[in-house]
Amino acid sequence: MSIESQALLRLQEIDLELMRLNGRLNAMPQQKKLATIKAAERNLAGKLTHIVGLRKDVEMDLEDNEAAQRRTSERVSEVQGEAQERARDYRGVRDLEAHLTALAKQLEKLEYAHGTLEAELERLMRAEQNANDLARKLQEERVAQQGSFERDSSAIMARVRLLAQERRQTVDRIGETTRENYARAYKRFGGLAVERLRGHMPTTCRVKLQQGVFNELMRGPVIAECPYCHRMLVTEGALADE
Ligand SMILES: [Zn+2]
Repeated sequence: MSIESQALLRLQEIDLELMRLNGRLNAMPQQKKLATIKAAERNLAGKLTHIVGLRKDVEMDLEDNEAAQRRTSERVSEVQGEAQERARDYRGVRDLEAHLTALAKQLEKLEYAHGTLEAELERLMRAEQNANDLARKLQEERVAQQGSFERDSSAIMARVRLLAQERRQTVDRIGETTRENYARAYKRFGGLAVERLRGHMPTTCRVKLQQGVFNELMRGPVIAECPYCHRMLVTEGALADE
């Protein structure tokens, strides 16, 4: 058999084995757990961003509130000062006292709002802390699952690396056109791209060729296309009794 035909058949075997190994890797329980952990981490990151945004808003509101309290207290001192100066002007003092009462009410309102904001800030900081704790736990669990996956899959991965290396060498022995045809057929037939002819029977679709079709194929290139299923068909060695 020609080097190219041999290489093509070997390439098919390698790729099918790689596909099976990949399936085994994906079916390992750690993979499912890792997917769940990663989804939970994404979800948590979104929540954390939201909480941090709210916390910063409340912190800003608190700053504004404290600035307003400072301004109001300053105003109180100013008005008190004015009241002392005008101690003999009865009506003026009464107006100022009314002003002071209004300012005191304003301060009271600001202090009340301050208390509410502080309670809200405390609640958000607790939520943020909880989210961070959970994120740390998820990360630990992810690292543990990843480690367990790597240990359990090491034999498979070693085989995958070996096959990948052999695949590179095998591909080097196949011509450009055949390579392209293989890539196309691989996609089209979900990996089962190549069959051989054994007597009058292709090995995959197993539709027996009529004598005329068979004769024509045997006169054509050694890597042909199956007239029935259109996979690549290695006709070399059809009549050898292996
Ligand atoms: Zn076929």
